[in-house]
Amino acid sequence: MGSSNSRQKDLEPEEPMHHANGVNAQPTQRMSGMIYVALYDYQSRTDGDLAFHSHELLEIIDQSHSDWWRARSKISHMEGYIPSNYVAPVKSIEAEPWYFGKIPRIDAEKSLLQPENENGSFLIRQSESSYNDYSLSIRVNDEVRHYRVRQQHAVDGTGNVFFISRRRPFSTLEMLIEHYTSNGDGLVISLTKPCRKSRAPLTATLSYDTTDNWEIDRTSLKFERVLGQGQFGQVHQGLWNGRVPVAIKSLKPGTMDPQDFLAEAQLMKKIQHDKLIRLFAVCTTEEPIYIVTELMKNGSLLDYLRSPKGRQLKIDKLTDYSIQIATGMSYLESRNYIHRDLAARNVLVGQKGTIVKIADFGLARVIKEEEYEARAGAKFPLKWTAPEALSYGKFTIKSDVWSFGILLSEIVTYGQIPYPGMSNNEVMLKIEMNYRMPMPEKCPVNWYLIMLQTWDTDPMKRPTFDALRSMFEDLLFTDGQHYKESAEVL
Ligand code: AMP
Repeated sequence: MGSSNSRQKDLEPEEPMHHANGVNAQPTQRMSGMIYVALYDYQSRTDGDLAFHSHELLEIIDQSHSDWWRARSKISHMEGYIPSNYVAPVKSIEAEPWYFGKIPRIDAEKSLLQPENENGSFLIRQSESSYNDYSLSIRVNDEVRHYRVRQQHAVDGTGNVFFISRRRPFSTLEMLIEHYTSNGDGLVISLTKPCRKSRAPLTATLSYDTTDNWEIDRTSLKFERVLGQGQFGQVHQGLWNGRVPVAIKSLKPGTMDPQDFLAEAQLMKKIQHDKLIRLFAVCTTEEPIYIVTELMKNGSLLDYLRSPKGRQLKIDKLTDYSIQIATGMSYLESRNYIHRDLAARNVLVGQKGTIVKIADFGLARVIKEEEYEARAGAKFPLKWTAPEALSYGKFTIKSDVWSFGILLSEIVTYGQIPYPGMSNNEVMLKIEMNYRMPMPEKCPVNWYLIMLQTWDTDPMKRPTFDALRSMFEDLLFTDGQHYKESAEVL
């Protein structure tokens, strides 16, 4: 350890950061003809794609499409399409088991705190706040510590160096990791194993062939079991091409005009984000229309919150759900897209109960008016709808913000119906007279203060989703046991 003086100096870079050009400096440029390594197993789904195992070397032949590349296996010499997000250039930083790319600090903490990771488990991620630097996140018992890994030109001009402590520079990140694995050298704990990576990511589309042609043959779908009964039809778990697990939503005939739906689906297809349910394909040439999407094993957030498992969730988990939903909505906000029916019934929960994603964005717009019945009718989600949307049909991202506030009340009450004991009509009349839902029992005051902001009569005074995400992140960092910030410099 250096003196406290030199420690202080480490906090402040002595010279401006320079653009790096070393092999480890930036995520590597993707070029055809290069050798890539598989990060996960991939099973073939169609005749045209190539199956491979994790660690297998693949020569990339054609990268003209961003999501599916043509590749040749260095082992079997077979050729076919591969999902581009399953591979990384060989010897690149992305191919390292400890490199997690540009993930937020909060996600690094969530990953490291999974029970399968031990004390000293670690990962490297791109720093959120400082371009060109990295962060080393380490699990220390039930907390996560973060160290800034700086990158600068070496004083002797031999390239870039990486360091946590200025007195110990390394010419590659691998060497830095090796050093702190064999010797803590001032870190709170020596590094042990790379943080476990979650299962393989979703592919952008079902296959190369369905990327531009996503009207699929309905015989390629196998229905396995009913997942739920929605307002407009049943949802099944199924398989596409006998292999890929999907959810299939069948729309009751007459629910929407196929042409209207297809136009909307063109838009939905372009809206891709980690926190939004991926639309994979559609069958619209005959009724019933099928919508094929990503499958979420734990079903709707509303049912999950009401289940015995859900009722045991602690407030920091509920806060985390709110952050995830606000993150997805803030992406919609940035794409000028409106959800129109944001509610716990339209948020889905993943297999482990840690991930939630927003479903059914944009669908409400194409549902035939009479299907929703008159505005105040039984099916219309009146308790979730902002007053200006109810009165003048003015649906905007700000009316989504209002609905988000109602969704927060559903989360914090473990799935209670909003405005308990009040009828739709009563709510509508009272809201017009400036009444707002009282603070639900056991709701933290800071949650309620945020909810009240989302219910401002003036839509423009309601916060943006981006601001809402930050507000909930601040709650985790100030209240959460596990989320204490501990950025340190040696
Ligand atoms: P919906 O028609 O969207 O209201 O869906 C009805 C029910 O089906 C939901 O409450 C969920 O339980 C289930 N469901 C819908 N979409 C999915 C999906 N992508 N993955 C798993 N379950 C789903």
